[in-house]
Amino acid sequence: MNIKRNILLNPGPSTTTDTVKMAQVVPDICPREKEFAGLMKGLRNDLLKVAHAPADQYTAVLFCGSGTINIDICINSLLPENKKVLVVNNGAYNSRAVEVCQMYHLPYIDLKSSVFEQPDLADVERTLQENPDVAMVYCCHHETGTGVLNPIREIGALAHKYGAIFVSDTTSSLGMIPVDVVKDNIDFCMASAQKGLMAMSGLSYIIGREDIIRASKNYPTRSYYTNLYLQYEYFEKTGEMHFTPPVQTIYATIQALKEYFAEGEDAKFARHRRVYEAIHHGVDKLGLETVIDRKIESGLVVSVKYPDDPNWSFEKVHDYCYEHGFTIYPGKISTSNTFRLCALGAIDEPDIIAFFEVFEQALDQFSIKHL
Ligand SMILES: *Cc1c(COP(=O)(O)O)cnc(C)c1O
Repeated sequence: MNIKRNILLNPGPSTTTDTVKMAQVVPDICPREKEFAGLMKGLRNDLLKVAHAPADQYTAVLFCGSGTINIDICINSLLPENKKVLVVNNGAYNSRAVEVCQMYHLPYIDLKSSVFEQPDLADVERTLQENPDVAMVYCCHHETGTGVLNPIREIGALAHKYGAIFVSDTTSSLGMIPVDVVKDNIDFCMASAQKGLMAMSGLSYIIGREDIIRASKNYPTRSYYTNLYLQYEYFEKTGEMHFTPPVQTIYATIQALKEYFAEGEDAKFARHRRVYEAIHHGVDKLGLETVIDRKIESGLVVSVKYPDDPNWSFEKVHDYCYEHGFTIYPGKISTSNTFRLCALGAIDEPDIIAFFEVFEQALDQFSIKHL
């Protein structure tokens, strides 16, 4: 089968290989068969390896849903009674965690800081000193809205110093930037299959400390479908998801993990870096500006300022690129007009070079000035 190859420069879902796409085409199977439980066991073990999580301390719990389900689950399931969440918030994805706290009427502190900067560690420490009832510190690793990489190892260390657990949203970094849950002081991290692993959407997973999940059995329950302990317990008892899993996405993810280990963590990291450098090179060559200091960029998302030209139209340029097989994505910074070019997925430097040829044609087509 010949499948058209689109280059997705949006922050996920990402471009996949044909072998991952085709891995979904399997004979029909009821996911309650032992054979399927066996597949999920291997998958959960492999996910631990991606995060360098020791299997005697950490477990991987699977859920059917997009990546946001993990944020919901961690926050609603892991907060003891009369305790607070501290969200170290420098962007849209951390704000999503704040919204989850609000939705469940949980006590929280929204420690907001500039979306253009990394959070200030002294502020985090002072907040922890002043609020001994904080039981969970939450911070997104890679703020996908801007491209800023946050110092999670240091934030995790502060959480532990003050007796709190550390939950990090690693949805747009795990499998692309090396993450080591032990060294990075992470008690819980999370991702979904369509981002770093370059599989399909619909499967999300939380990698976390088993002792804390067990302790959470006695915490107040705030959700039925998205309770971490319930899903963990069901996996322990049966090897299965409590409710219907995303069957075909699981087959794709198993294939994607094979390809992940075959490429290797370091080589994959280097490939994403190459793509990122090629994006910056193309942006510079056209005389466009980016908004985040490269020193704090993740190397996975580049936020580009709209060209200062009345002819600029994101929609028109997007549509032109889309027709030519490339997808660009709007920005997520309320104070600045940006679009994003991302280095996720099964792509490499030549794809970015090809993209900038098309992008330049688009600028010329609509008489938008550039270098
Ligand atoms: C993509 C992403 C999510 C999940 O978004 P969904 O649309 O629910 O898949 C969560 N956090 C971060 C940092 C992300 O990049």
